Amino acid sequence: MMNLKGKTALITGASRGIGKGIALTLAKAGANIAFTYVSSVEKAAAFEAELTATGIKAKGYQSNAAQFTAVEKLVEDVVKEFGTIDILVNNAGITRDNLMLRMNEQQWDEVMDTNLKSAFALTKAVMRTMMKAKSGSIINITSVVGITGNAGQANYAASKAGMIGLTKSVAKELGSRNIRCNAIAPGFIETEMTETLGDDIRAEWVKNIPLKRIGRPEDVANCVLFLASDASAYISGQTINVCGGMVM
Ligand code: NAP
Repeated sequence: MMNLKGKTALITGASRGIGKGIALTLAKAGANIAFTYVSSVEKAAAFEAELTATGIKAKGYQSNAAQFTAVEKLVEDVVKEFGTIDILVNNAGITRDNLMLRMNEQQWDEVMDTNLKSAFALTKAVMRTMMKAKSGSIINITSVVGITGNAGQANYAASKAGMIGLTKSVAKELGSRNIRCNAIAPGFIETEMTETLGDDIRAEWVKNIPLKRIGRPEDVANCVLFLASDASAYISGQTINVCGGMVM
C-alpha cells in the first residue's frame, strides 16, 4: 500500500535536511522525484545522481519557491519532463528570527514569501494536473511552532499557522476531486536549520520531549510516505505532529 511506483513527486527544498530525507524515502518506495533548491547547486547535482542511481527518474530544479512566476514555470517544466505530478510536498522553508521589537519588514516578508506564499503558488500550479488525473496528495511541512507560537519567531510561527489554514481550505475545496491535502508539523529535527542552536538550548528542548531525543529527517519522511500513499486514502485536512510527543 505504501508503494509509489509510477508516481511522480515534486518536493521543494530537497538539496538537504528534511526535504532530502523525504526525497530519499519516496524514491525508495518507487516514486520518480522532481525536487528544487535555490543555492546548493553542487549538492543538488550530487543528490540528483544519487537518486537516479536507485533506478527511479530524478531531476533537480534551481527554482525559488518564493517567486510566483518561477513556480508556474517550474511546474510546467516538471509536467513536461515527468508527464504528471501525483504528490506535492511543500517543504522549502526559512527562518529569520528576531524579537517583535526588532523584527523588520524584510524579515517578515522573506519568511512569509518562502514558507507560505510558496505553498499557495505551488498548490495553485499543480491543481490542474491533479484535477485532470482525478487524484493527488498535497503535503505541507509546517511546524509545531505554528500551533504553539514561539518568542522570537512571530514571522515563522505566523507563516506555519497560515499553512495549516491553507491545508484545511485546500482539503475542503479539492476533496470532491479526490485530491487530499494534509500538513505535517515537525518538532525539533536535526538539520542545518537547527544545528546553529547551542548545546544548552538542545538539552533544554530534549528535556521537554517525551521520547527524549531530537528527531531525524527520516522521522518526518516516513509520515510523508504514509500521507503520499493510498494507506492514507481517507485522511485529508489533518495536521500530524511529528515531534516525539512534545506538542499534544
Ligand atoms: P534546511 O536544512 O535549512 O533546508 C532548507 C531547504 O529548503 C534547502 O534545500 C534549501 O535549498 C531550500 N530552500 C530554502 N529557501 C528556498 C526557496 N526560496 N526556494 C526553494 N528552496 C528553498 O531546513 P530543514 O530543517 O530541512 O526544514 C525543512 C522544512 O521543515 C522547512 O519548511 C522548515 O520550516 C520545516 N521544519 C523544520 C524543523 C527543524 O527542526 N529542522 C522543524 C519544524 C519544521 P538550498 O540548499 O539551495 O538553500
